[in-house]
Amino acid sequence: MRNACASVIYLGKIELRWCQNCNLPVLGKTCGICNSDTEEVKLTPPGDIRPAFPFDIELCRETIEKQFGNAILPDIVILNDVPSIDRMDEVIFNGKVAGALQYDMEEKKFRFIPRVWFASVIKPSRGFVVADEGAVLPILNGSNLLAPGVIDASPEIKRGNEVVVYSPDREVIGVGKAYMDSREMEKGKHGMAVKIRWKGIEKDERISNATWDDVLRANENIIASRVNKAVDFIHRTIRESGLPHAVSFSGGKDSLATLFLVLDAGYKPPIFFINTGLEFEETVRYVREIAEKLSLKLIEEDAGDIFWKAIDFFGPPARDYRWCCKTCKLGPTTRLIRKNFPEGVLSFIGQRRYESEQRAKKGSIWKNPWVEGQVGASPIQNWTALHIWLYLFKKQREYKLKWNELYEHGFSRIGCWLCPASDMAEFEFRKHKDWKKFEEKLKNFASKHNLDERWVYGGMWRWRHTPNWDDGKYEIKEERKYTIKGNESTIENFLKIIGEVNKLGDREYEAGGIKIWLGEEVKSSDREGLVRDVVYKAINCMGCGICMAKCSRNAISIKGGKAHIGDDCVHCLKCMEECPVIVFR
Ligand code: SF4
Ligand code: SF4
Repeated sequence: MRNACASVIYLGKIELRWCQNCNLPVLGKTCGICNSDTEEVKLTPPGDIRPAFPFDIELCRETIEKQFGNAILPDIVILNDVPSIDRMDEVIFNGKVAGALQYDMEEKKFRFIPRVWFASVIKPSRGFVVADEGAVLPILNGSNLLAPGVIDASPEIKRGNEVVVYSPDREVIGVGKAYMDSREMEKGKHGMAVKIRWKGIEKDERISNATWDDVLRANENIIASRVNKAVDFIHRTIRESGLPHAVSFSGGKDSLATLFLVLDAGYKPPIFFINTGLEFEETVRYVREIAEKLSLKLIEEDAGDIFWKAIDFFGPPARDYRWCCKTCKLGPTTRLIRKNFPEGVLSFIGQRRYESEQRAKKGSIWKNPWVEGQVGASPIQNWTALHIWLYLFKKQREYKLKWNELYEHGFSRIGCWLCPASDMAEFEFRKHKDWKKFEEKLKNFASKHNLDERWVYGGMWRWRHTPNWDDGKYEIKEERKYTIKGNESTIENFLKIIGEVNKLGDREYEAGGIKIWLGEEVKSSDREGLVRDVVYKAINCMGCGICMAKCSRNAISIKGGKAHIGDDCVHCLKCMEECPVIVFR
């Protein structure tokens, strides 16, 4: 695996600033407590900052202690999600980045990469190297530490470890990565001992005793102004859309904030929840609890066990092969809207620009291209995760309601428990009770396609095509065959998509003037590609219901776990467009 980080991504303004007087984070130019001007915090874009929960602080503390012998952190710590191969968060306090907490996929553990000022605060008793006097200036001027310049190194250092470099009088002058273990360093006559990441002499030993109550006070006006804008947006959008409205609730923080905002605007919306069948139990429980406690109508649609049926056909989902989003999310969404909002619906959805490039480009109001009649609107499009959390901390008091408990167990986003977009770190935080069942599927697929253990256990299954940062190339080729036998009546029904169907003989049909023969191979007098797709779709249909949304004639229903084409079909072929069986062939 190459040591690569994703390129810098700008999705919006970096909002985090710091009041040095109160020593706490502020999301605007003036501190709401002391009225001082705040300072910009230099961090890595996109800057979707969030509070560290006690779990995160403890994880950080343990990791730092293991590596450096000492750890000290205040209660108010901000985390900044940095684009990386797996989980990596910048850890921020005192108005600057103290280091980065990174999950190492190969080693399956976290490591901490400190900055110089923080290394000076913790004064490492492990993971340190002492440079001789002659190496101090070159290091401060940007050189790496060579082996002859090492006069001492703590004995446990292994190649690849993050280390702190001291001057002979034990002042921290740099931090970096060990290129040798400690014995090699001490004996080494040549070669690089430490590749320096950060250099300098810097100290800041303040440990803030601010609390989250203080942070709320410091940001009160800023959050209030965001809420006012969001409430105006909600009123305006409802007025202009002319559609019934609802809140799409996933059980995550963004949809919770969206729901509270709609309540703040004075509405009592129904909430809808798509249970993908892959939700953590905590999430399902939480969604129902919120609906009950807020006395809101809950409309739930369940994907059932479609994932487990579909995985044998598609293989494991991957970041570049997300069939599951279609079958487990889009299909049930389509059904829910069809059943409950036949005239269309304005859904308030908790989407934010800081989440992804795609969402940054989307704007605050959009038409769902996949679900006819659904207009999405996000009142929190320009909020960072810290805006969301400060608002939720405030609402928690008002409603006596907490957020999904998974956030207190290391999760920064809530989704399906085996989502391929998850970091490996999250799979380590909590494994669902069905994880073994999923792992069996991975193992079977791996043995069929000659994939190694790293693909199964090292998380490489999350990419269908080898990502460009990885050196281990693998290729997955799927060959899916037709099995006509036993599927004749479904095929005959699906041929309606092409045109009016006449049965001419045994496995011989005419559809829309095209003659079709279903033998070993599918043959037709015309449009053979289309005919094959329709036959293939009929055989493999898993009843996800996505095609129902595409059909303006309402000609499709789900019967016996498969789509059924009714007599109102006008052969427009629209239902061929998004069928996952065809798209992910
Ligand atoms: S979208 Fe509806 S009308 Fe068009 S071909 Fe499919 S079933 Fe028929
Ligand atoms: S035919 Fe319709 S229900 Fe069947 S898999 Fe395709 S989109 Fe889903």
